[in-house]
Amino acid sequence: MSTLIYTESTLHPSQAIYDRTIPAGEGWMHEVKAGQTLRIVDLEGNQAADTLFYNAHDLSERYSAQDTIRTQSAIYLTTGTKLMSSEGNVLLRITADTCGRHDTLGGACAAESNQVRYSLDKRWMHSCRDTFLLQVLQWGRGATKADITHNINFFMNVPVTSDGGLSFEDGVSSGGRYVEMQAEMDVIALISNCPQLNNPCNAYNPTPVQVLIWE
Ligand SMILES: [Zn+2]
Repeated sequence: MSTLIYTESTLHPSQAIYDRTIPAGEGWMHEVKAGQTLRIVDLEGNQAADTLFYNAHDLSERYSAQDTIRTQSAIYLTTGTKLMSSEGNVLLRITADTCGRHDTLGGACAAESNQVRYSLDKRWMHSCRDTFLLQVLQWGRGATKADITHNINFFMNVPVTSDGGLSFEDGVSSGGRYVEMQAEMDVIALISNCPQLNNPCNAYNPTPVQVLIWE
């Protein structure tokens, strides 16, 4: 594995204006205003936080993995990464990262992929795609299944091999590690705290994550 670079934040949790714990396997949807900083903390380690971002004023403009990868000429996300929108605008910029690497190639787990990857009887297990769907429908504002597109997997380790292979590996994160990003426009953040029990991305044991916001 290439060397991971860690960047600590100067923000203190006591000054956060928002602090919430997302239990294992549950979802969260919340607005982050331009200039605010969002931190996601992997409280117990080896958890995956599947995440989508939208322009808060137009949900049809959303996070684009393709534009993000092309803009930074790199496939992993870490400090300095600009999270790009489908319209070529910067949604947020990663400003601190004590995990060192995040995936945006692996996609979110879904009923269909659970069935194909693991076994027929896994189809009915909880999945990130179902969590995303539940959250956008509860959020309203006309959001639908079509608004759930390619996501970021914070804290997830999906290395790409030299011959182009993709593998889901044991996490590089551990308890208390975090990633922090500053919004460059008003955005809606949508997180599925991955309930997956069939692969090592969350050590077969989903655990809570914490979200904090600073002005
Ligand atoms: Zn998942």
